[in-house]
Amino acid sequence: MAYTLSIRSLSRLEGVHPDLVKVIRRAIEITPIDFAVIEGLRTRERQKELVAAGASKTMNSRHITGHAVDIAPWVGGTIRWDWPLFHKLAPAVKQAAADVGVPVTWGGDWRSFKDGPHWELPRKQYP
Ligand SMILES: [Zn+2]
Repeated sequence: MAYTLSIRSLSRLEGVHPDLVKVIRRAIEITPIDFAVIEGLRTRERQKELVAAGASKTMNSRHITGHAVDIAPWVGGTIRWDWPLFHKLAPAVKQAAADVGVPVTWGGDWRSFKDGPHWELPRKQYP
């Protein structure tokens, strides 16, 4: 089954780096499970709120510069946050990145503060 990005998902990609958008657009073509874009570009004000709420650790977030997106499995009309589903999604996004030749980092691969929905362009290649 092939999925497509919803209008809402597409609107949340506005302001995100075009290379990362390419990855997400490819990922939706090959993913085994549907997903939604939760958040792309983020204001400093919203980042401050997230840090205050403990939902983020840093004011140096890649979301503020458009170098990160959060995506989550969309199953039966609901956003899902469980790890087994993120682990189904992740190989598709990694394959998509390889397909379009864009390096990406998955928050789920971080050793501390694992972030299942989070994907970003590496600072090394995208300072
Ligand atoms: Zn994120």
